[in-house]
Amino acid sequence: MQKIKAAVMHGIDDVRIDEVDFPQMKAGEVLIKMKSVGVCGSDVHYYKHGKIGSYIVKKPMILGHECAGEIVEVASDVKNFKPGDRVAIEPGYTCRRCVYCKTGRYNLCPDVTFMATPPIDGAYIEYVAWPSDFVFHLPDNMTYDHGALMEPLAVGMHAVRRSRLKPGEPVLILGAGTIGLVTLLSAKAAGAGEIVVADLEDIRLNMAQKLGATKIINASKENTVEVIKDFTHGFGMEVVFETAGSVPTTQQTIELAARGGRIVWVGLAGEDRFPMPVLQAIDKELDIMGIFRYANVYPYAIQLVSTGRMNIDPLVTHRYNLENVKEALEVAYERRDGAVKVMIDIEGKA
Ligand SMILES: [Zn+2]
Ligand SMILES: [Zn+2]
Repeated sequence: MQKIKAAVMHGIDDVRIDEVDFPQMKAGEVLIKMKSVGVCGSDVHYYKHGKIGSYIVKKPMILGHECAGEIVEVASDVKNFKPGDRVAIEPGYTCRRCVYCKTGRYNLCPDVTFMATPPIDGAYIEYVAWPSDFVFHLPDNMTYDHGALMEPLAVGMHAVRRSRLKPGEPVLILGAGTIGLVTLLSAKAAGAGEIVVADLEDIRLNMAQKLGATKIINASKENTVEVIKDFTHGFGMEVVFETAGSVPTTQQTIELAARGGRIVWVGLAGEDRFPMPVLQAIDKELDIMGIFRYANVYPYAIQLVSTGRMNIDPLVTHRYNLENVKEALEVAYERRDGAVKVMIDIEGKA
């Protein structure tokens, strides 16, 4: 059988370029030559810790799930794609039969196949076969990098949808990593009023400002709760997004929200159980929402970029090729040189 190249994780800190089997395309699928694949925080986490919660890397696995490429072959029953089509790939497909799939919340489907979530292989590979209903046409004016960025952007858009943000409403975003920044872009696209972003690093806050934050808070120098109290004349923020994924910022969301406000927890704190000001949350009549991936967002994320209303170009700060995935993971882990989104150009030359 024909062999192709992939970056395979064999263990913690151990990623090698291996020869692997050519993927077998099934009915309803398309075969995609991979072009751009982003490095996600979850890829870095598996690479450095070997697990995320109950998902444990037990056998060699290919990382990467933020991906786009070119279709080279389609199954005979696939009518809406043809070889040569440029596509963004939604990296998780579901059963399409359960109550969640049928009611449009397929992100909650218990029977999901998601790239680079053990034991499912991901996208740091030359070719992938994938169900065509989780593949989306990329307009001519969008690059493969744009296509790969649809994945994190979908998370930000889903968070903003869940928040029921209305035009002109002020939002606070805790954390200015990739997910904080795509939440900012999504809030802006949805018509947010003030967009306040808090983070510990100036380099990320500057990026937030460039992308449309109207106010930034460096939480290593200022007390976010005090700044917001001043800024809102004691009211707090109507909508608060937590994307930093830390215990203290998650705890802060309740204090930062206005009475009657909405909180969306996007980031994953390192611990499952920690003290929260619950009575304050009840007293303020807060709506607190969790986020798990996204559903039915890709076509809309694509349109925001293709129509020029959302500029995601600044997010990509570094590029590597397939041979150098290990270094790319290290750069993302250390956030070297202000790394935000590290992109793998699968066909790129060293
Ligand atoms: Zn991701
Ligand atoms: Zn389902």
